[in-house]
Amino acid sequence: MQCPKCKEVNKDKVIDSRLTEGGTVIRRRRKCLACDRRFTTKERVDDDIRLSVVKRDGSHKPYDREKIVDGVKRACHKLEISNDDIERLVDNVEEDIIRDHEREVATTDIAEHLGRRLRELNAVAYVRFMSVYRKYKDITEFVVEIRNVKEFTRKHMPTQGSLFDEDGSVQ
Ligand SMILES: [Zn+2]
Repeated sequence: MQCPKCKEVNKDKVIDSRLTEGGTVIRRRRKCLACDRRFTTKERVDDDIRLSVVKRDGSHKPYDREKIVDGVKRACHKLEISNDDIERLVDNVEEDIIRDHEREVATTDIAEHLGRRLRELNAVAYVRFMSVYRKYKDITEFVVEIRNVKEFTRKHMPTQGSLFDEDGSVQ
């Protein structure tokens, strides 16, 4: 971006990003590092500027919200989580993504953001999601993850504690 004051190009830093107009516009607050001028840019989400997802093999594909929603729905299968909750969760994940990444985001980063939000929503959904996503190398790693989420649940969401057996397996 070109600074409106000193006309330096690409010396700016994004200091805040948010989705507006129903998620179709990204509004970014920028700061020129040359002259400290703050200015705002708006990006309309269309095919030219759509967020690009970098897969594990290095290839790129356009960001697809529906894929994220589907993944979350699978993780939430048969749990009492409404579609509204799921859409809201994905909204939050998208906000996380655009705050931290300008044009490209790795699938691993999406998964980390998603995992963080899911953990706040439902412990079982979180464990299901992470077990698929992380492709645990061995069972020990999985058990450690269950212990971690159990500990997190006990601290932050005491009502969900009964979702886990004493041996750490998911009911
Ligand atoms: Zn400037």
